[in-house]
Amino acid sequence: LVRAHGVRKSFGENEVLKGIDLEVRSGEVVCLIGASGSGKSTFLRCVNHLEKIDGGLVWVGERAVGYRIKGDKLHEQSHNEICADRTDIGMVFQHFNLFPHMTVLENLMEAPLRVLKQRKAEVRRRALDLLEKVGLSAKADAYPRHLSGGQQQRVAIARALCMQPKLMLFDEPTSALDPELVGEVLRVMKDLARTGMTMIVVTHEMGFARDVADRVVFMHGGRIIEEGPAEEVIGNPQHERTRAFLSAVL
Ligand code: ATP
Ligand code: MG
Repeated sequence: LVRAHGVRKSFGENEVLKGIDLEVRSGEVVCLIGASGSGKSTFLRCVNHLEKIDGGLVWVGERAVGYRIKGDKLHEQSHNEICADRTDIGMVFQHFNLFPHMTVLENLMEAPLRVLKQRKAEVRRRALDLLEKVGLSAKADAYPRHLSGGQQQRVAIARALCMQPKLMLFDEPTSALDPELVGEVLRVMKDLARTGMTMIVVTHEMGFARDVADRVVFMHGGRIIEEGPAEEVIGNPQHERTRAFLSAVL
């Protein structure tokens, strides 16, 4: 579903991604790990059209991120085309970014109604169903400020899913949470993985990576240094950098 080839990204003089090659098959869960500043968030943002890619190409399904295909040529996408492509991709951030002036249910319904122009009854049904799946049916009419961090993050996940994405990107979804709230969010993500959702997850939760990831990818200095099944990369890392990183986080 996702094919990244030679992805490069610089901020001024600072080359943050130095040629990332990564493929993620449909239904696969890939955990992206690596030290702060290694380029994990930047890579996710490139996949989701939030950063312009300087070199290389990212394909999501049949579409090249940032480009439209005409004949055999690639043309830069317009803003509208970028927004249209992005609706296939759900993203969940460290800080939940819920709309504070809307109830939980309204948060879920907003984008499907406004962006996808779907029928209200249908969106409402789907939203209520998703709230049940994340264990928050009782909070449908609550405002985000009345929820715990873990509850807000579960709402953020449900909100992303309400757009019926093909791909979900998670950028350290539990790292802003109090430790006792981490489990409930990871549980929701685990359930989602079981449904066959394609997921790229930046996380420092090695237990989650071990249990859920089909593959773990270790980034260092804007490159992928090591990747493979979770038990190999985490349990028996080959690269010295991976070993150093894991001994610091485990
Ligand atoms: P963390 O674990 O701390 O989230 P990360 O692996 O996600 O780190 P990135 O956020 O991708 O790392 O950042 C990689 C590098 O790119 C850092 O050196 C950062 O300072 C730089 N960077 C990221 N975004 C920008 C930006 N918008 N402008 C300038 N520099 C940026
Ligand atoms: Mg980051």
